[in-house]
Amino acid sequence: MEITPDGSLDQQTSSRLGIQIPHLKQPRLEELLANAPAAIAFLSGPELRCSYVNDLAVRATGRISADQLLGSTFREGLPELEGTGIFEILDEAVRTREPFRGREVKIPFIQFETGETQDRYFDFVCQPMVDAAGILDGVFIHAVDLTDRVESRRALEVSQDRLRVAHEAAQMGTWEWDAVSNTPVLSSELHRLFGTDPNDDAKTITETWAARVHPADLPRVRGAIAESVESGAMEIEYRYLHPERGQRILHSKGRRVAGSAHLVGVVLDVTEAKTAVNQVKEQRERFAFAAEAAGIGYWFCDLPFDKLSWDDRVKEHFWLPADADVDIKLFYEIIHPDDRENTRRAIEESIRSHGRYDLEYRTVSAEGKQKWIRATGRTAYDAVTDVPIRFDGVTQDVTALKQTREALIRSEKLALVGRLAASISHEINNPLASVLNLLYLIHQNSNEETIREFSASAQQELARVSHIVTHTLRFNRQSNKSSREKLSDLLESSAAIYLARMKDAGIEVRLDYRDEQLVHCFGSELRQVFANLIGNSFDACKSGSKVLLRTRDQLHPKTGERGVRVTIADNGTGMDKRTLHRLFEPFFTTKGDKGTGLGLWVSREILRKHHAVLRVRSGRSAEGSGTTFSIWLPAESNLVQEG
Ligand code: ADP
Ligand code: MG
Repeated sequence: MEITPDGSLDQQTSSRLGIQIPHLKQPRLEELLANAPAAIAFLSGPELRCSYVNDLAVRATGRISADQLLGSTFREGLPELEGTGIFEILDEAVRTREPFRGREVKIPFIQFETGETQDRYFDFVCQPMVDAAGILDGVFIHAVDLTDRVESRRALEVSQDRLRVAHEAAQMGTWEWDAVSNTPVLSSELHRLFGTDPNDDAKTITETWAARVHPADLPRVRGAIAESVESGAMEIEYRYLHPERGQRILHSKGRRVAGSAHLVGVVLDVTEAKTAVNQVKEQRERFAFAAEAAGIGYWFCDLPFDKLSWDDRVKEHFWLPADADVDIKLFYEIIHPDDRENTRRAIEESIRSHGRYDLEYRTVSAEGKQKWIRATGRTAYDAVTDVPIRFDGVTQDVTALKQTREALIRSEKLALVGRLAASISHEINNPLASVLNLLYLIHQNSNEETIREFSASAQQELARVSHIVTHTLRFNRQSNKSSREKLSDLLESSAAIYLARMKDAGIEVRLDYRDEQLVHCFGSELRQVFANLIGNSFDACKSGSKVLLRTRDQLHPKTGERGVRVTIADNGTGMDKRTLHRLFEPFFTTKGDKGTGLGLWVSREILRKHHAVLRVRSGRSAEGSGTTFSIWLPAESNLVQEG
């Protein structure tokens, strides 16, 4: 553009702009328009084609260059405005020759850089320009882009809204207080917290509030407020009687606005939080008490194992002083050598399988004293990587418990030995009487042939005695070593002590042994189990009843493990629901003084140790009654002798 010395535009530029504004020199006008803080456009000629746009107008409409608009009519240049009502506004201004002012009008312009439509907001003036003769010269459009302002205002509104919701949710109100004029301003949420009416005057509100503050707390609250004028800060908690919600606990906290007598603050309803905190505290105290009473200790270990964090109680369980440092090496050292491998395996297994760790082991003092400790725990894993990070749990001294349990097991063994003695005398009496008779006859007789016959008979009778005694001895032999046994052999020696008596009582015993698989077990313990089951069947049967003893090789139905199933069934009295339910409880018996109620309880302990699966079926009905105990034992299992 050529600028003439007097500052007016040359003819060419002037005609290109196609506008004439009186009193202003053309170049200055153009500069003014170009730098104006608003989007400016001229539409000129009868068709209202765009003859000028400044940079801001190009940007505000989302265009990349002025050429996209110059020479086009409004409709051609900004087709996206169809349907927004903007064209109609322009038409109306042209028709009436009256200017149109729009306030914060939303206009969706296509953004050519991104290809997306963006809502922009404008204050704009649409000014028809008429020449001296009253003929329309064009339209001048002046628009101020308010988009940023509107958007930030909207954002503010949204965040204020959110704040309000948050305040509501947190039951938090805000207040302002001018100490000089003594006028409080309460947020609507605070009115809700106080149960006051926002339409009341300040005095009424203050009086209502003061009347509801717990009388015992009021002086303290007033003191804190008075003091805050000096100190510039206050924080206080007080009880407040809300007209609908009842007694609440409010927490008020405020601060002076720097350099003024103005305080601002928040009030929080902490009733629930307080109650929850108190409950947690109470629970923790109760728990600590229970832990103390039960002698429970806590341990925490970060993984992989190195330093272990134990409380005094765990250290006590490990014969260590309270100030001892512990690591995993020391842990295993104090555990009884026979229990170490099992413990190590249980820990590894629990970490690997995400399972519970629940184990009993012995700890040994420097002087060789022992305690039985039960440890239970769990692994914590990283939420993302699933890597095990912590292994925590509790220990409990179960020595006394174990001793009681062992005493019970022993007493049940004694009861069994009592029955054994009864069986033995029963079984041995008859053959011994025969032998005595035979010896007498031999003594009286001189016939060699007859004497030989008698002594053969006596030998036979004595063999019977020997057989019984051997079985009985075997039965009573206690061994701490596990071994591989044929279950039918164990079953037979358990049955031997009852067979004669059952026969005498008219009870038929059917034996059906077909197991070949040897089972890794503690033989004398399984004998105790079988003897009790057979004894129970014997007790439940009357003359004419039957007892079945059966063994079969069988795979575990789910895991396919090799094993043997032992079945002991009778068609005796059967059990009612209540008995069936309480069967394994220690001391539960329906036999009065004749029973101990420990047999099945002990049996279950023993079977658990053998990783056996035990099933009971029993019933009483018109068609018949009876009971079946069925035990599946794995051929190979990891056995630990306890106690
Ligand atoms: P005890 O034999 O000393 O009573 P147990 O623990 O061996 O103790 O048995 C508990 C109870 O279970 C018995 O008193 C009896 O009521 C019931 N019971 C066990 N086995 C049988 C069975 N085969 N038939 C009927 N009842 C049985
Ligand atoms: Mg019994």
